[in-house]
Amino acid sequence: MAGRVVVTGASSGIGEATVRLLRGRGWDVLAVARREDRLRALADETGATWFRADVTSDDDVAALRAHVESTGPLHALVNNAGGAFGLDSVEAGSVDDWQRMFDVNVLGTKRVTAALLPALRDGAEEAGVADVVTVTSIAGHVAYEGGGGYNASKFAEHALVAVLRLELAGEPIRVVEIAPGMVQTEEFSLVRFGGDQARADAVYADVPGPLTADDVAESIVHAMELPSHVNLDLVTVKPVAQAAPHRVARGALAVRRP
Ligand code: NDP
Repeated sequence: MAGRVVVTGASSGIGEATVRLLRGRGWDVLAVARREDRLRALADETGATWFRADVTSDDDVAALRAHVESTGPLHALVNNAGGAFGLDSVEAGSVDDWQRMFDVNVLGTKRVTAALLPALRDGAEEAGVADVVTVTSIAGHVAYEGGGGYNASKFAEHALVAVLRLELAGEPIRVVEIAPGMVQTEEFSLVRFGGDQARADAVYADVPGPLTADDVAESIVHAMELPSHVNLDLVTVKPVAQAAPHRVARGALAVRRP
């Protein structure tokens, strides 16, 4: 069923790819992020509508809620806005970076989900089902050195999703977690390393086939388009070259015989 969906973090990477795919599948998409110019360009190209909101701002999210509720029921929410800041040890990591990661990954997801649940209930009543899809990370399941604040925030976001599923049990609302491994998006590592392009590029160097934003969008939309009684609780999606956050093959994959 193609209904109305809000996608956060829609101005780049996985969110942008998800908007494109959902529009191609006939969904009415409201694209949300902070950078208006990018949202406007995406909307012009895809026919999505857009709303500027910082998910770490109570006022912005209240305005988003008012906008959504004034324009009809909502059938799905894709909580994708998020990111990593730094790759430092627990000992050396900046408390400010940790704070920002909690603000966007945990509290941003909590804030938007809470704000939009009433509209999602309207959508579920109308269509028989509604979805809350949250993009966490394998960093929300497996620790890695330097993961510190990102691991802690994504583990917390995973916990939020698990609690939400329990709390919504009995309602026709699916709660889906998409946990990607390495995805080569334009900005994720650049943001993580404060704009250091060489360090960002090194993350993906010689990795045979990191995931693309389109790969993750496919997983998100697949979960949303399954029959309404099927809930994909957790989808872990990684490149073949990645066995764990800290175990990435570089160079061509090759069969290894014992
Ligand atoms: P990008 O950096 O490309 O995209 C992040 C998006 O979030 C942008 O659209 C950004 O838009 C938005 N955003 C950031 N902060 C805020 C905020 N405060 N309020 C509203 N929007 C915000 O990263 P990816 O597409 O790679 O990542 C998307 C999600 O996937 C994140 O949650 C990330 O943690 C997760 N993930 C990414 C992986 C990867 O390897 N790339 C792996 C696993 C998970 P704007 O700046 O315009 O607000």
